[in-house]
Amino acid sequence: MAEFTMELNDEQKEVRDWLHGFAADVIRPAAAEWDEREETPWPVIQEAAKVGIYSLDFYAQQYFDSTGLGIPMAMEELFWGDAGIALSIVGTGLAAVGVLANGTEEQIGTWIPQMYGDANDVKVAAFCSSEPDAGSDVASMRTRAVYDEAKDEWVLNGTKTWATNGGIANVHVVVAVVDAELGSKGHASFIIPPNTPGLSQGQKFKKHGIRASHTAEVVLENVRVPGSCLLGGKEKLDERLARARERAKQGGERVKNAAMATFEASRPAVGAMAVGTARAAYEVALDYAKTREQFGRPIIDNQGVAFQLADMRTSIDAARLLVWRASWMAINGKPFTAAEGSMSKLFASETAKKVTAQAVQILGGNGYTREYPVERMHRDAAIYTIFEGTSEIQRLVIARTLSGMPIR
Ligand SMILES: Cc1cc2nc3c(=O)[nH]c(=O)nc-3n(C[C@H](O)[C@H](O)[C@H](O)COP(=O)(O)OP(=O)(O)OC[C@H]3O[C@@H](n4cnc5c(N)ncnc54)[C@H](O)[C@@H]3O)c2cc1C
Repeated sequence: MAEFTMELNDEQKEVRDWLHGFAADVIRPAAAEWDEREETPWPVIQEAAKVGIYSLDFYAQQYFDSTGLGIPMAMEELFWGDAGIALSIVGTGLAAVGVLANGTEEQIGTWIPQMYGDANDVKVAAFCSSEPDAGSDVASMRTRAVYDEAKDEWVLNGTKTWATNGGIANVHVVVAVVDAELGSKGHASFIIPPNTPGLSQGQKFKKHGIRASHTAEVVLENVRVPGSCLLGGKEKLDERLARARERAKQGGERVKNAAMATFEASRPAVGAMAVGTARAAYEVALDYAKTREQFGRPIIDNQGVAFQLADMRTSIDAARLLVWRASWMAINGKPFTAAEGSMSKLFASETAKKVTAQAVQILGGNGYTREYPVERMHRDAAIYTIFEGTSEIQRLVIARTLSGMPIR
């Protein structure tokens, strides 16, 4: 187990500087354009693929870094560049992780390359779990997957919503109910291969922020996929369902709490995205406060402004520390006895919202225009307290973990 460290090693610093260069030279200059266009920035994803940032190998390398700092460092730098474009670059990772976590070696080898494509023909993937009536309450999901034994096929019906890359993805990973009695333990994940009949894009959402990231409904009407598209395979699913039924009889809470551990491990990455956006806005505000003069002196000479910057920087550093701690715990298998993963996401996302609002204030009228990036950063930051579990859900998880109550 690696000791917890607050310092990046030389290799990590090199990767950080390389990512920062890409974020500063390629992502940031393109941010305003793709925010206005509200379209997936394919040319930027292609650039990222060319240099090796848009690939599973890159994320796997960061993920398996035993200090736990690889992923948060990468997320912070890319999202420092721009949140919408960075989400377009890392969004495929959500679906890829779904396959890595539950898929067989064959499924991983077959589908992950098709999720990313290659630098000459980049593809994206989507992870579809949320539904119109199942957002925070994942267990109330309605999309059904029914096994057609005669054909060894699964038939999926339902409507997914809020799917990042939904409908434009080459490969969709869809979570569906296979046993309604078991709540979230009766869910299974399916690969929907490219061009499968019955899968279509519903409404594409016009969003407040992260507008360069495509978000849409995904409609599944009698979508038939081969048995081999069930992640993990049928035998494993049957065993898992049998175990879940047995445990449910003995008292279901243990079952539900086990599922929460996965979220604890993935939430710090979202916290790191929020740290990236917050840091970007803080830097713009600091520069502005040092150069903008009113009443014959730079506005930073007023304590009212300087103290805001002091608070902004303090919160950002505190958020990063929580994120790094939780990431280190996740990779080293430390139990999240106080829901430290949720804590990091909660604090970092609330910090991003607050800090970007303070940055708008420090820039005055300019902060309120699209001439300056803090306006966009402020809109972008609002997503962090919503997706991957809202702030209220994080507080609920933390409070219930502390009190020993069941999570749901
Ligand atoms: C831009 C974007 C991208 C997304 N990408 C994906 C994706 O790729 N794949 C995917 O599956 N999903 C995705 N999501 C969905 C996201 O995870 C959900 O929006 C989120 O989980 C909240 O669900 P909801 O929107 O239905 O809100 P609701 O669950 O309806 O919540 C509404 C409000 O009620 C509060 N609330 C709900 N329950 C409680 C409670 N028990 N106690 C206190 N307060 C409560 C919430 O905190 C919130 O403030 C995305 C969403 C957005 C906006």
